[in-house]
Amino acid sequence: MLRFPAALFVSLILVPLMGQNPTEDALIARASRMHASMFTVDTHVDTPGRLGAGFDLGLRHATGSKGAGCLDFPRMKEGGLSSAFFAVFAAQGPCTPEGHAKAKTKAMDQLDRLDRMLKSQAALCERTLSPAEGRRVVASGRRAIFLGLENGYPLGLDLGLVDTFYARGIRYITLAHTSDNDLCDSSTGKRNGPERGLTTFGAKVVRRMNELGMLVDISHLSDRSVRDVLHLTQAPVIASHSCARAVCEHPRNLSDALLKALQANGGVVQLCILGDYIKKLPTNPEQSRALKELEAKVQARYGGWDNLPDAATEAALGEEYEAIFEKFPGGRPTVKDAMDHIDHIVKLIGIDHVGIGTDFDGGGGLADCRDVAQLPRITAELLRRGYSEESIRKIWGGNFLRVFEGALKTAARITR
Ligand SMILES: [Zn+2]
Repeated sequence: MLRFPAALFVSLILVPLMGQNPTEDALIARASRMHASMFTVDTHVDTPGRLGAGFDLGLRHATGSKGAGCLDFPRMKEGGLSSAFFAVFAAQGPCTPEGHAKAKTKAMDQLDRLDRMLKSQAALCERTLSPAEGRRVVASGRRAIFLGLENGYPLGLDLGLVDTFYARGIRYITLAHTSDNDLCDSSTGKRNGPERGLTTFGAKVVRRMNELGMLVDISHLSDRSVRDVLHLTQAPVIASHSCARAVCEHPRNLSDALLKALQANGGVVQLCILGDYIKKLPTNPEQSRALKELEAKVQARYGGWDNLPDAATEAALGEEYEAIFEKFPGGRPTVKDAMDHIDHIVKLIGIDHVGIGTDFDGGGGLADCRDVAQLPRITAELLRRGYSEESIRKIWGGNFLRVFEGALKTAARITR
């Protein structure tokens, strides 16, 4: 179904020109037309973090304007983004009973807030639990909102909580975040002893997730943790927001060996468009100074980004962070830089194992793709590089839906 007749009209006029020398406008028009008829999914946005500060997802906010963030439902429609995974985020704290209890409460509070938002915005969106539900919601002209849990920390050591979060609508769990936890080691964890990889408890969590048909998310995990998960899991897995280490050296990115292991698993890597993971660029010295000052302030007041007291503080500091890039531009890679990662991954493991997970509202965003309204620019660049419409459909959701359906089939098989 075409929901953007205006975009279609423009593309019908411009398409005949594209045989000779496709202009940027024509490519964007063709991309927008494709978006209007594709099921598209962004598997990682941190937009729930903005809800605590009263952000209204039903209103259109102008790209780049103060407080706009990267996503609201009108801009999702404009950018032809059918669905997104909203991440319930738990910053890593101490692995103690108190720490676990606090993280669980925070995660449940976010879920309550999300439930209220989904209810109040029912005309524009619906919480979605499966690929089939997603297709139904999108066919109704509304946005399909899936839920994921970024960091398994709130599980503590209670395996029963996997079922609790599943019952609340969570359909993937990123096992760890920026530090090691009781489930596994993180790619950026600072440890004294040797790497543990996936712990005994983490292995139990993976097995239970397989039984439930919940997606195991390997983004943020250490190399050994990823290998352990891939060795154990019976279902295909996802990296909800990760890049290629061969293109940009960063522990957070996946090595070629791990990408090949992911291919063998039948899983999918969803490209993250966060600058540090895309390309190392010379920074603007004023920008660096401002970022350092903000970092020092956060350290002095709260003891780090993982210790912020509440959602309002988190949102306010997120605004300050974004404002620095606004005031001192530069240092942000482009859509072209990001698509170099897609090219590399496709060359290495084929077209069936890659998708998009922007990390919007969590640091994600490119110089020329700053919010969901601008996502067709990614598609335009893929068209420019000669990707077929069929390949682009796979990247924008086909691959991810295959993996999600595969996890559900695995669950049905192993619990029969
Ligand atoms: Zn993340």
